[in-house]
Amino acid sequence: MKIKCIKTHLVRCDLKQPFGFSQWSYDHRCVLIVEVITDTGVSGWGECYGPAEVIQTAVEKFYSPKVIGMDPISTEMIWHHMWRASLDFARGGVMMAAMSGIDMALWDLKGKLLGLSVSELMGGRCRDTVPCYATGMYFQDMPEDVLLKVLVEEACVYSEQGFKAMKIKVGKNPEFDIKLIELMRKALPNTILAADSNHAYDLPEAINVAKALEDNDYIWFEEPLSPEHPAQFKQLQETTRVAIATGECEQTRFGFKKLLEQGGVQLVQADLAYCGGPSEALKIRTIASAQGLNMIPHVWGTQLNLAAATHFLATAYSEPGRAESKPLFLEYDRTENPLRDELYSVNVEVRNGSAIVPTGVGLGVEINENALKQFSINSTETK
Ligand code: MG
Repeated sequence: MKIKCIKTHLVRCDLKQPFGFSQWSYDHRCVLIVEVITDTGVSGWGECYGPAEVIQTAVEKFYSPKVIGMDPISTEMIWHHMWRASLDFARGGVMMAAMSGIDMALWDLKGKLLGLSVSELMGGRCRDTVPCYATGMYFQDMPEDVLLKVLVEEACVYSEQGFKAMKIKVGKNPEFDIKLIELMRKALPNTILAADSNHAYDLPEAINVAKALEDNDYIWFEEPLSPEHPAQFKQLQETTRVAIATGECEQTRFGFKKLLEQGGVQLVQADLAYCGGPSEALKIRTIASAQGLNMIPHVWGTQLNLAAATHFLATAYSEPGRAESKPLFLEYDRTENPLRDELYSVNVEVRNGSAIVPTGVGLGVEINENALKQFSINSTETK
């Protein structure tokens, strides 16, 4: 069997309500979907995290011609074929995002060809449901005192929906952030809370915010500092007992090895649509495990990345391990995203705050071809 064709689908939609975080605002969603098709007519689907228009060119012009004709079962061989072809000039960034989408599509395809789910391909499920944390509480353009109330109300809705864990955004300004951290804890005394600054702080600011997180019993502090200053993670961790989480900007086992060797990082958050795909994510998890750390993927995008992360966590062994093991939470983005909610005919089912691990072949989610046509603004086909 051979890979006969690779298609890319650039899907896009405007949002009714723009939302912001520490760096900028979103007013639309745009994702690159990759479809790998065999000479027997079977399609595997993957997605890429990052600037979709740029990644589309990398998939279409660079990687696809190198992969066409290869055996789709040979995911390791294909990964290293792509890696060697781009190592000299693409050790990170959008080229690796392109590889990630192709690799994810190949895992979906391999599952379909062998009649197995991706979690079975990854070694078998340790659990059939994965607890989720709701990601939301993004900033909106309104006075800060009003925004504080709106964000707390949003969190209370997720709690009523059954989410026992959730993550807020911080990094607007430290004064606002500390108020939000305290109000959120008062409103939700029994909820597991985490906070994400998207690398908004310098070290003294991060130390102050970490103190507020520690005083209010938050479980992790995500991207407190710039990924360009990994040595500061260790300096920050020495001042707080709140776990430092990071990794959504990092890629490959090589990148994560360097990041984790610096110390300070307690929770590893590679994105399966960006870090090098499911193939590389498994290697990153091994590196994390060798340092006694857990990996919980960053998830942003559509059902394909959500399904990949669900299978990944279904197969996870929680470090350090005990009879009543620590839950590893799946990131479940609750912000407006029609590409997540309307593009698929079969979704990852989330019930009462937990994802049901798909048992269908491959990733176990299905694209709705009509919706794909509706959202697609540019498609390519390489044979
Ligand atoms: Mg984040």
